[in-house]
Amino acid sequence: MENCPEQQPLFTFGVIADVQYADLDDGYNFTRTRRRYYRTSLQLLKNAVKSWREAAVKPDFILQLGDIIDGFNKSHDASDRALNTVLTEFSSGPAEVHHVWGNHEFYNFSRSALLRSRLNSALNSNRTVNAAPADSDIYAYSFSPVPGFSFIILDGYDVGLLGREESSQKYKDALSLIRQHNHNTDLNCPVFKGLEERYTMFNGGFSKVQLDWLDSVLSSADEKQERVTIVGHLPVHPRSTTPICLAWNYDELLSIIRSHSSVVCFMAGHDHDGGYHRDIKGGVHHLTLEGVIETPPDSNAFATVSVYEDRMELRGCGRVRDRVFRFQQDEGSIINAVTDLQIS
Ligand code: ZN
Repeated sequence: MENCPEQQPLFTFGVIADVQYADLDDGYNFTRTRRRYYRTSLQLLKNAVKSWREAAVKPDFILQLGDIIDGFNKSHDASDRALNTVLTEFSSGPAEVHHVWGNHEFYNFSRSALLRSRLNSALNSNRTVNAAPADSDIYAYSFSPVPGFSFIILDGYDVGLLGREESSQKYKDALSLIRQHNHNTDLNCPVFKGLEERYTMFNGGFSKVQLDWLDSVLSSADEKQERVTIVGHLPVHPRSTTPICLAWNYDELLSIIRSHSSVVCFMAGHDHDGGYHRDIKGGVHHLTLEGVIETPPDSNAFATVSVYEDRMELRGCGRVRDRVFRFQQDEGSIINAVTDLQIS
């Protein structure tokens, strides 16, 4: 044993969610049960970037899981300034960032502005990306950092009210869909009926165009026997989050994931408490990362993931715990009951 050299990962990447920075004093969430650290979230982002910069093995890229700045910036006319502040931090890091769009991106910017912005990583990446159909305005793409591994960024507000012009057909269709489930005047208030809670304005879903595109990307990944990690703002497995944070048509996305052997992991943000569940059908690991915005200044919330042939090891910092994501194909047909081992 003592002669075994430590195994080197094939590559590593960083992950962080819900920074929600604003130059404002602390506040509370909608139900006033959770403190939000708007200003010090920037310091926690600095801590994450410093850790990645100083790591012995530098991450190849960073995944930013959405809600990079808070919606309050809009009412303070500070959206561009706040975005500039957080992107300056990220740019001092060791690797390019792949940005996911969350509800707070749309509180600050329209979809057309986001598509032209620095938050459009499909436009700004130095890598070759395979983007969703060019004639759509869907922000979804895939990239392969190393042969045999792919990452897919999904657009959880492709169907939704946020970021869409009220006069557009897509807005009207989304409104009619949400109205079938939520009869409240304020559509940010959920109906408290289990999974129906997800039909709020701060959530959204995936169009048929996006689902078909995802299905075809995954079919090609299956053929190539790749390992695919899918990344979005909204969780899609009911056991990896609370119903109020789920994507509207999470069930359709889940059934596509379950029909492709290539998918190994789904990563989301949005639910600041975080969550994890290993799907019994197919063994895909569903991780919801703890949000920076509700993390006290003396703690942290980010992770670095090391990828090996048979697993991914997530090393969490602060309130993000360590986990090992073993790939299903290497375990035969039996899903290991010990699904989230601590890294010793
Ligand atoms: Zn969110």
